[in-house]
Amino acid sequence: MSDTGYEIKGWCPGALRPMMSGDGLVVRVRPFGGRLRRAQADGIASLAAAHGNGFLDISSRGNIQIRGVAEARHGALIEGLRVMGLIDPTPEIESRRNIIVTPFWNKGDDTEILTTALTQALALPDMPELPGKFGFAVDAGANPVLQDASADIRLECDAGGGLILVADGMKRGKPVSLDTAVPEAIALADWFSQYKGTATRMKAVIAAGAEPVGHIVPRQKGTFVPKPGYTPNGAIVGLAFGQMSVETLSTLAKHGSLRLTPWRLILVESARILPVIEDVITDPSDPLLRIIACTGAPRCAQALGETRKLGSTLAPHLAAHQTLHISGCTKGCAHPRSAPLTLTAQKGGFALIKDGKAGDTPSVSGLSPDELKDYI
Ligand code: SF4
Repeated sequence: MSDTGYEIKGWCPGALRPMMSGDGLVVRVRPFGGRLRRAQADGIASLAAAHGNGFLDISSRGNIQIRGVAEARHGALIEGLRVMGLIDPTPEIESRRNIIVTPFWNKGDDTEILTTALTQALALPDMPELPGKFGFAVDAGANPVLQDASADIRLECDAGGGLILVADGMKRGKPVSLDTAVPEAIALADWFSQYKGTATRMKAVIAAGAEPVGHIVPRQKGTFVPKPGYTPNGAIVGLAFGQMSVETLSTLAKHGSLRLTPWRLILVESARILPVIEDVITDPSDPLLRIIACTGAPRCAQALGETRKLGSTLAPHLAAHQTLHISGCTKGCAHPRSAPLTLTAQKGGFALIKDGKAGDTPSVSGLSPDELKDYI
């Protein structure tokens, strides 16, 4: 335990290196290219039903977590995932393959080519050693959509449609081509390794004044707002708190392959019309989409309070413009950034933080769950 009151692990759980939580192991699967083929999605649902607690989470990096896995079942689960092509050769490669991908790609386009090349490059043995949460974003559509998602090295397009390499935290990028983009991205990761000192993220290195050479092209300012609806690539649907049952995953897989996003939304490939599916949100104005809540008690061992049931109770009271983060402790896993309103569970009630993070100084403390609707 640190003096923050929660345990700092400094690494993210994977499938090969799972994390123990209050309800068993959390096994986080990183779909290659951010996509699950229908058979893979259905297979994960079956494996989660057999070895987990029947619930799955979509993470803020577009991964899918199987929860509640007993240690004795981990081997069988991994074997099942490996058969479906969802497991990396080693835990080190799995950890490095931290890539988020725009869901708006088409077969054979730059995003798909770059994602494949980056995945292959990160599996090579001579890669720089990178901190556990260090990641990449491939966002090569005409307009970037991942600028608010956490990534240290980005590939995106400038206003003229040219591909640029971006060190997170910089307003300009380095022009690259389809051939040079991945080698340049690896070189930038190497540059980070040399300049990072004690920093674990690119943004901190840039904020400290270091600047890679050749980053001269202005970035576009993304205006994309993720929400459920139909797109040329398929139907985007939401999940309350990014959580779903194995039945829901299995049903979604019947309608198409799934692209997982960092917004806890799923794009169902090529779907035009979806029937009503239990727990699936299709109304972009549903207030549950504006509430972020971590696992909380009792499933997280570090939680000081329940979060998701509380989120469902508070949703009808949330004003149309409001977003709310509910955190089971000051760590703020589900949303490590500032939010207009945050409720953090603490011993003896909830703390309300305005325009801050879960661990920031609250404006009010010791609120009971019944009082909270009067404060949001
Ligand atoms: S923020 Fe939530 S999920 Fe993260 S450690 Fe705290 S209670 Fe657990």
